[in-house]
Amino acid sequence: MVTTAPCENPLFQTFIEAGVEAGYGYTEDQNGYRQEGFGPMFMTVKDGVRWSTAKAYLDPISSQRNNLKISRNVLVTRVLFSGNRAIGIEIFKKGRFSIIHCDREVILCGGSINSPQLLHLSGIGPADLLKKIDVRCLIDLPGVGENLQDHLEVYVQHSCKEEISLYPALKFHVQARVLLQWMFTKKGWGTSNHFEAGAFIRSRAGIRHPNLQYHFFPVAANYDGRAPVKGHGFQAHMGPMRPTSRGFVRTTSKDPRKPPAIQFNYMQTEQDRQEMIEGVRLTREIFAQKAFDRYRGPELAPGASAQSDDEIMEFVRSRGESAYHPTSTCKMGRGETAVVDPEGRVHGAENLRVIDASIMPSVVSGNTNAPTIMMAEKLADKIRQVEPLAPSDAPHFVAGSWETEQRTPS
Ligand SMILES: Cc1cc2nc3c(=O)[nH]c(=O)nc-3n(C[C@H](O)[C@H](O)[C@H](O)COP(=O)(O)OP(=O)(O)OC[C@H]3O[C@@H](n4cnc5c(N)ncnc54)[C@H](O)[C@@H]3O)c2cc1C
Repeated sequence: MVTTAPCENPLFQTFIEAGVEAGYGYTEDQNGYRQEGFGPMFMTVKDGVRWSTAKAYLDPISSQRNNLKISRNVLVTRVLFSGNRAIGIEIFKKGRFSIIHCDREVILCGGSINSPQLLHLSGIGPADLLKKIDVRCLIDLPGVGENLQDHLEVYVQHSCKEEISLYPALKFHVQARVLLQWMFTKKGWGTSNHFEAGAFIRSRAGIRHPNLQYHFFPVAANYDGRAPVKGHGFQAHMGPMRPTSRGFVRTTSKDPRKPPAIQFNYMQTEQDRQEMIEGVRLTREIFAQKAFDRYRGPELAPGASAQSDDEIMEFVRSRGESAYHPTSTCKMGRGETAVVDPEGRVHGAENLRVIDASIMPSVVSGNTNAPTIMMAEKLADKIRQVEPLAPSDAPHFVAGSWETEQRTPS
């Protein structure tokens, strides 16, 4: 269930106006014909409630299907095999290990961190890594857990001269009120993720599709809820969409309850660093537009002292944060480092698929939730042998001047 953000706080419209004023176009649907530009964002929210895949797909059928059993608080610990054929899984629940057999297939959907860990624990992965954790190698697949990607973001923060931001929501007693209002009426601030305006832009001429994304937030606050200053503010989250740095998820113990080593290797390449530095400068230009004159107070982050490339990179190093978009650790494709085929089947294994964000060959140029659901829908059709939808040749926007110009007004 997708809803369009209402953008009632005037700061959202101001951000969109500032983007247009800075020479970027307006787009009413970043997921439609035109991604490039400034406009409202969409939320996976229904009637004021975040609409998870469990709510959207499982809840409506969970009581009607006798071929569906949902177990909660279960840790899947490994896949069981007969030869190379998956025949079930081992699970850990309430302090006990037990086994569930399957007639047809095992489908892993533990996400980009846990699916590779489960494959490692099941004997599928780089042979040397499996040897280190004392797991017998069933299939030597060097790509399992490698190729980890994510979107790193920084926030450019300003204080706000008018008392219109969400700053009050950072106070505990207001949070309690917002929670109660949401619980009893499904109305108010609790119904939104407050990323209601955003943008996709190109950081320089010569790039065909947007490589930077913005989420605008009408308060100056970190993800953990802490505010850099007491008072009203706003911020734009900005980050490169197609990073070239690669990290890994490597299982460190045969005990499935031990977390794997996760290393993102953000900003390892010159391209990633350059795009981030360009992005911070372009964001400052957007906040400097007339539309923000009424609201713009001093820049809180990166702050006046961060001007040179090195100073901006220092800010990125100390304040960069994950957008929580890990992908690509069981990448789809052919070749030595691919893990699954175009139908999500693990190379070298039978009756075993992975269907989650880990199979994206590279992270998508946008947010990852909807594309993951889309991949699952497509592969569900394959599993059920349903005729796939006809390929679409819907037109999409490419700025006519992309080779020579960085901005495209509407
Ligand atoms: C805080 C946060 C905010 C986000 N906000 C957005 C957003 O606004 N927009 C957007 O597009 N994307 C957002 N994302 C990203 C989005 O949620 C993910 O891209 C998407 O959920 C990936 O889906 P997945 O199926 O690959 O993995 P997940 O959704 O992580 O699903 C994996 C599931 O497997 C379970 N699991 C894992 N291992 C085991 C095991 N061994 N045994 C049993 N169960 C297991 C996990 O508990 C989890 O329920 C956000 C992510 C986070 C963390």
